[in-house]
Amino acid sequence: MKTPRALILGGTTEATALCRAMAEAGIAGTISFAGRVARPVRQPLPQRVGGFGGVAGLVAYLRDNRITHLIDATHPFAAQMSTHAVAAAAEAGVPLLALTRPPWVPQLGDEWTLVPDLDGAVQALEGSRRRIMLAIGRMHLDLFARHPQHFYLLRLVDPPEAPLPVPDAHVEVSRGPFTQEDDGTLMERHRIDLIVSKNAGGTGARAKIDAARALGLPVVMIDRPALPPRPEVHDVAAALEWLRT
Ligand code: NAP
Repeated sequence: MKTPRALILGGTTEATALCRAMAEAGIAGTISFAGRVARPVRQPLPQRVGGFGGVAGLVAYLRDNRITHLIDATHPFAAQMSTHAVAAAAEAGVPLLALTRPPWVPQLGDEWTLVPDLDGAVQALEGSRRRIMLAIGRMHLDLFARHPQHFYLLRLVDPPEAPLPVPDAHVEVSRGPFTQEDDGTLMERHRIDLIVSKNAGGTGARAKIDAARALGLPVVMIDRPALPPRPEVHDVAAALEWLRT
């Protein structure tokens, strides 16, 4: 077996957990970040930051760095990166594994409106003023400028650098994982009556969903983007095992 030299596509709690496990197991690898947040979580493996330059750039990176294993541990909504990873791995002949989180499914007491994408979430907000927790990150806030009538509670990793595209908003700067208790308190403090969430899955971001259920609040749940087929595992131990084979 070749000694593994892995490239982890990161930006999630799961990617960080995998890096920690790899460092403990003595498996060599580099973690890659897009560079969206100002201070990425420190990792026990070497890191690189910034896009590769499309599929061709990722193929070149895999070849130049003699990568033996590619693990896509990006967020389920990072569809472009994941699609590029499938194409680049095939072209470079590097085996690919995705470390993913199963999507959340509604439980008794959940009041979800399912929408297929961000545009669907925007459409779901037609109508009179609501107090909305918009938990979608900062990248696509512009879309919600169509509904300036609402109050928006935004939770962002970094303070916004540009003026917000919505006039009535409060920014909560904090980084997960969050607790149900804290999210419930936050919702009550801002008198939130609707939550908009991506179906991210996993435990780090689900506190708001659990808090919404406990408070009897409705959720507009955005479905995941479609991705090309690829082998997937849901836990770090399975990814580590794959690296060893
Ligand atoms: P995206 O739309 O799928 O990717 C856009 C471009 O950003 C990619 O084509 C790639 O540029 C670059 N990129 C993305 N992830 C990268 C990585 N890990 N390393 C190097 N380059 C990367 O991605 P996104 O939705 O903006 O997400 C960006 C990052 O934030 C990802 O690491 C993701 O795990 C994390 N994140 C995303 C969300 C979300 O809701 N989307 C939530 C939490 C965390 P090139 O084409 O130049 O290679």
